[in-house]
Amino acid sequence: MKLVRFIQDGKETPGIQTDRGVFDVSAFGEDFDPAFLQQDGLSRLRQWWESQQKHAEPIAGEPRLCPPVCRSSKIICIGLNYVDHARETGATPPAEPIIFFKATSSIIGPNDTVIIPPGSTKTDWEVELAVVIGKKASYVSEAQAMEYVAGYCLHNDYSERAFQLERGGQWVKGKSCDTFAPLGPWLVTPEEIPDVNHLRLWLTVNGETMQDGNTSDLIFKIPTLVSYVSQFMSLLPGDIISTGTPAGVALGMKTPRYLKEGDVVACGIDGLGSSQQVLKKFV
Ligand code: ZN
Repeated sequence: MKLVRFIQDGKETPGIQTDRGVFDVSAFGEDFDPAFLQQDGLSRLRQWWESQQKHAEPIAGEPRLCPPVCRSSKIICIGLNYVDHARETGATPPAEPIIFFKATSSIIGPNDTVIIPPGSTKTDWEVELAVVIGKKASYVSEAQAMEYVAGYCLHNDYSERAFQLERGGQWVKGKSCDTFAPLGPWLVTPEEIPDVNHLRLWLTVNGETMQDGNTSDLIFKIPTLVSYVSQFMSLLPGDIISTGTPAGVALGMKTPRYLKEGDVVACGIDGLGSSQQVLKKFV
């Protein structure tokens, strides 16, 4: 299944995306939130949808999309998880996963406007595969880890490099600005993805390709990451682990070309769809 959330009559509405279009599933009676995931909502929704889909009609037009899950308690990002990206930033590939937080208040819909924060001179992009947790995971083994995964979605981990690297303290300052986490278009359940370790991911700025990588180059794979993070904190339903970005960010360029007002960033991952953000200055 591809779960989607969209604006209808001014309200965030749960839906399912098929090749026929977007279907309103608000009649199922639950939004795609932590309680839905915890109470086995994915299999209940799948069963309900099987009885409904023959008679259902897709919604008309192209709705504004929301993030495909809501009320996530945290976003944990993995730093330097592709060798080529570690190299371009001058870092040594890590021996253990690097983890950092990104504020959930940064989450927006996949095609919403991204705001360059006040004082920013180094706003940058990072296309990433994000894992959405389906049930509480605490001290889980790598062998068990995939049972805790609800699905995957596309994430653009916007990063203000001066806030992140030049202002002291932790990376969280440069990762958490409002609008810095466009998520979606869809939450895609694992059975739709034949091999999550072999997905192309790409990003363009104003049509020019900046990133073109493959999840086969992840240093630490998804079961390792879920297990690893769960040794330090409980992962709750709806939580997001963003697995890191391949090479091709502005920070890695000889003369970095950071984002400015009017730039159009597009990105995508095989099977997880694509998204596009227009950059605007904070006013
Ligand atoms: Zn990142």
